[in-house]
This record gives sequence, C-alpha cells and structure tokens, in this order.
Amino acid sequence: MKEQRRTIGFVCPSCRNSVVADRSLFSLAAGNMTLPCPCGKSSLLVDYTDRDEFDITVPCPSCGEQHSVRLTRPQLMGHRLLGFSCPRTGIDSCYIGEEDAVFAAMPRLEQTLDKQQEQQEQEGTFLDENVMSEVLGELRDIAQRGDISCTCGSKRFTMDIHYSSVELHCADCGGVLRLRAATLDDLTDLCAKSKLTIHGR
Ligand SMILES: [Zn+2]
Ligand SMILES: [Zn+2]
Ligand SMILES: [Zn+2]
Repeated sequence: MKEQRRTIGFVCPSCRNSVVADRSLFSLAAGNMTLPCPCGKSSLLVDYTDRDEFDITVPCPSCGEQHSVRLTRPQLMGHRLLGFSCPRTGIDSCYIGEEDAVFAAMPRLEQTLDKQQEQQEQEGTFLDENVMSEVLGELRDIAQRGDISCTCGSKRFTMDIHYSSVELHCADCGGVLRLRAATLDDLTDLCAKSKLTIHGR
C-alpha cells in the first residue's frame, strides 16, 4: 500500500516566508509534530487526540495570533486541498492537502498577504501594535544612547516603519539594517542588543 502523506503549508508571521513540508500520516498520528519556520520565530503544530482527531495550531500571518482547527482523519486525508482562513481577516493562514495543490495555493496567499500589508502600511496599522510601539520605544532609547551606527562610520540614519518590521537606513552610505517587529520574540531579541550596527555599502 502506498504510504499516505499530507503536504502542509503556511506563511511565517515573523519573516513572511512560506514554509511547506510533507509529512506521512504515520508521523502526524504520532502527535506533537512541529513544523518550524527556518527563521525559528514561528511553527505550526499538529497534535493527535485519543479520538483519532488532529489538532492543528497555525501561526496566522494576517492577524498575528494563533488559530486552532480540529480535523478528523477522513477530513485530513480526504481532501485535495484544505484551506483555513483567519476568523479576523478572512485571509487563509494554512493549507493542507496534496503536494501540487498546496504548492499552487501558496503564491496566491503570499500575494494576498502582500496586498494586505501594503494596505495596512498605508492606513498606518501594524501586525502587532504593542510589539511595534515597544520596538520603536526601544529603538529610541538605543538611539539616544548613541548606540546606532553604520560600519561606514556614520551615526546618522533614517527610519522606515513597515507593517511588521523597521528599517534603519544609513544617511551617508545608504546601508540598511532590517529589524523585525512582528512578535514578542522580536522585541526580546532587540532588547538583548546593546548596540545596533548598520552594514554599510
Ligand atoms: Zn520565519
Ligand atoms: Zn488570524
Ligand atoms: Zn553607512
């Protein structure tokens, strides 16, 4: 008998890259399966209940929360493509199904997310308002200490605030430092740094 497999795809809320992986039904039913994004900031979880159900927890790129869905084995295995949409934004957060169907669906999701991000940047909203305001506060503190500099020797920079990140641009050489501002982990990372260095050109 052919081994039953499912392909799972989601978009990391932190680095915005697509994560797609293939898992056997056997490994899914072993429970406690994590599908981490290579950036280490988010992961999708699949747990297995004693009633032959699969609990899937998805990091949602459009609202920044996590969503959970419970699927029976026939639901999990019986569809060419299953999409789960965010209850807040209506945008899909995860696909499960056959490999080619999942790979076909991911680029459309990326485009939709890009469009949402553009729109929200125009409206001046952020993926996580609290994280962003904390990140900006922390950046202000570091800047006031004079601890932001560029490898070209400059200490002058401009700041670009995006939907889930902040870019520091060296005012002299145009070098860029991109800082994530999507999750609490991003904030913790930033707070752990005493100095920020822009890599100059
Ligand atoms: Zn990531
Ligand atoms: Zn969501
Ligand atoms: Zn520079």
